[in-house]
Amino acid sequence: MDAKLHKTLTSQFGPPSELIDVGKFVKDVADTIEPTVDPVMSTEDYRVDEITEALSNVWNDPELSAYLCRTQDKSLALIHAATKSGRSRIPKLSEPSANQNTVNELQSKLDEIKLSSWKLSSDAAIFTRPPRTSDRNTLVQIRKSDDTDITDISNEPQAVIIFSVHIPLSWRQSLLTRSSTHAILSSQTLEDLFKVIPCDYDALPEEYITEDGNVGYTVDAPKKDSSGYVICIDEVGYGDGGENDYADKLQQHLKTTNSTLQLRKADTPASATPLSSLSLRINQPYWMLHQGNCEHFIVVEHIRMKDASDPATGFPLTLQITPPQLDMCRACTKTPAIYAITGDIRLGESPCLLCGTCWNVMGSPIEDGVTVISCIKRVGFSS
Ligand SMILES: [Zn+2]
Ligand SMILES: [Zn+2]
Repeated sequence: MDAKLHKTLTSQFGPPSELIDVGKFVKDVADTIEPTVDPVMSTEDYRVDEITEALSNVWNDPELSAYLCRTQDKSLALIHAATKSGRSRIPKLSEPSANQNTVNELQSKLDEIKLSSWKLSSDAAIFTRPPRTSDRNTLVQIRKSDDTDITDISNEPQAVIIFSVHIPLSWRQSLLTRSSTHAILSSQTLEDLFKVIPCDYDALPEEYITEDGNVGYTVDAPKKDSSGYVICIDEVGYGDGGENDYADKLQQHLKTTNSTLQLRKADTPASATPLSSLSLRINQPYWMLHQGNCEHFIVVEHIRMKDASDPATGFPLTLQITPPQLDMCRACTKTPAIYAITGDIRLGESPCLLCGTCWNVMGSPIEDGVTVISCIKRVGFSS
């Protein structure tokens, strides 16, 4: 790992926690949990479900939730504009809607809140930043794993480990961006963790050369099996366990490049390594390599016990997927391209990236052998 990347990782993920033995954590918590007794509550206290109900009532009302989003965006933009680094545009609040009374009612309730930290002060600019693409989520609901063998069938106490996956930006490899967030059970293995991570490389269509020397792509071909991977946790490499184990390949590569990095191959392959057998650090980026040189950084966000409110099956869950950043259309250069077209003699290049409108304007291809690949229908990225 070069010094630049090391600096990025340290500044992006913060100091890592102490080592947490996942198996011991589950055992310790399971041994200490006592039957829950309803605490005695005073009339001034609120139960959590009462607060949830009040929040849901507001959040499920499209008019009120839109009002809250707009006012929050505006107050944040005002705070950022007041600072030196502030370049955000101040959004205009739309005209009062027909139901202005309900909005006023909500605002007067919010104004009554006595908590001094409720309203954002100008100091908040230091701790907040404008939204990024990686804060957005293409999923409208939690996605369960559909592999039948990746289900939780045991009633044993388990921990849920929330982890995020980060990839280098295509235009600056030393910067990372979050690509997805997942939840996995402590009884599941590193292979289950690998399988749930979406990657552009897995969705690349198969390439072939036609008789006249043009490059073609097989669209909608069945997904190929993984060509192997290695996950490195504290200088121990967990490989795929295949004939040409990726951990062996990586060790060989380190030897040929005279790297000073010490990497030991783990005693068990990833498929036989449950997370409960590992000791992990929160906020520590763990490195994963596959498809030759495709890198992902896995960061444990938090570890907690599985609760009755968690889904019973379907782990590992996918909680968030960052929307893909699309290249601009080569024809109009204004709209993000959604198609990659190969072998069309009317276009100056192959593949050529086009938006939907520009491709429709082109009409039907005049020759055979034209392939149209959807850039947004990538494996794992369609919700
Ligand atoms: Zn990848
Ligand atoms: Zn276009």
